[in-house]
Amino acid sequence: MRVPLLDLRAQYATIRDEIEPSLLRVAESQSFILGPEVEALEAEIAAYVRAEHAIACASGTDALLLALLDCGVGPGDDVITSAFSFIAAAEVVALLGARPVFVDIEPESFNLDPDALERAITPRTRAIIPVDLYGQCAAMSAIGGIAELHGIPVIEDAAQSLGAEHRGRRAGAMAAYTTFSFYPSKNLCGFGDGGLVTARDAAAAQRLRELRSHGESERYVHARVGTNSRLDALQAAVLRLKLEHLDAWTAARQRHAADYTSRLQARGLGDAVVTPRLGADTSRHVFNQYTLRVRERDALRAHLQECSVGTAVYYPLPLHRQPCFRRLVSNAHLPESERAAASVLSLPLYPELGAEQLAYVVDCIAAFYARAV
Ligand SMILES: *Cc1c(COP(=O)(O)O)cnc(C)c1O
Repeated sequence: MRVPLLDLRAQYATIRDEIEPSLLRVAESQSFILGPEVEALEAEIAAYVRAEHAIACASGTDALLLALLDCGVGPGDDVITSAFSFIAAAEVVALLGARPVFVDIEPESFNLDPDALERAITPRTRAIIPVDLYGQCAAMSAIGGIAELHGIPVIEDAAQSLGAEHRGRRAGAMAAYTTFSFYPSKNLCGFGDGGLVTARDAAAAQRLRELRSHGESERYVHARVGTNSRLDALQAAVLRLKLEHLDAWTAARQRHAADYTSRLQARGLGDAVVTPRLGADTSRHVFNQYTLRVRERDALRAHLQECSVGTAVYYPLPLHRQPCFRRLVSNAHLPESERAAASVLSLPLYPELGAEQLAYVVDCIAAFYARAV
């Protein structure tokens, strides 16, 4: 048996018969960039996450860039973010000439620790970027409270968490800005790159629309320095169709996650394998990833590869240890981020994953520890 980490062809097979009209609609319109297809996607995503405003753009990284530009982040500013995450948020902070300040995570959720955040705030702090890792929201109530007390805007990086909820509120409706990605490994993905940023404030939404089109405020008049970060109509058409399936796909991911957890726990592996925990305030985990903490991670990963089971390590090197930030970063010791980077392992999880495939993955893991002890 083979179990890939992700099987986009399996998803495509389920929508193959419906997708053609969406693609042809764009071909017939010959309207390729922004336009009615993108506007419709923006309205549908805004309704889905219960956001006031949604602005589509070219990628999740650009969504972060646009939000930071709108906050006026630049040289001399600090932006606080999680040390255990994908590089995008910290990267755009550095590109704008500001300094990323990394704080540690809560060990159970893998997300930004609000107490560490509070200790890291200084007069230079210009924005805070919590990340909703693996499909679960960060501690947004606590983070939002701290940010409000200090008058600092929050940009929630929900690239992995479209549809996730914290205390009944969706990512997209909790922060001044929330960013999403439609990269092919995300739970809602296009036929290429894509992204979106939601905004609470109407004036901010208008500025974000301008920023994604060269800061153009009227034809060939540029109020601000922006960029080219427009979404293609073709991507919007694909995403609109897939959005109709997202709740069913999320339910399947949640079922598979529960199945993994009960099967792994039944194997009596003790603390060699720690299954994902839902925080008390997590009302919906969308399981973009199913991530374990495991003992002998790299050896287990090699064993699973021999069993033709795909796995991933999100992420093996915390951001404060990245070579590209060597000159920017002062806080060198973030123990929970380092512990997570050394022990996490994500298993195959996608809606179409078969029950036999899942059982096989668990068998392979149990066989590894039976042999190792
Ligand atoms: C994927 C991802 C991004 C970047 O999204 P792109 O669309 O690939 O630019 C940013 N942050 C996190 C946490 C991600 O997982």
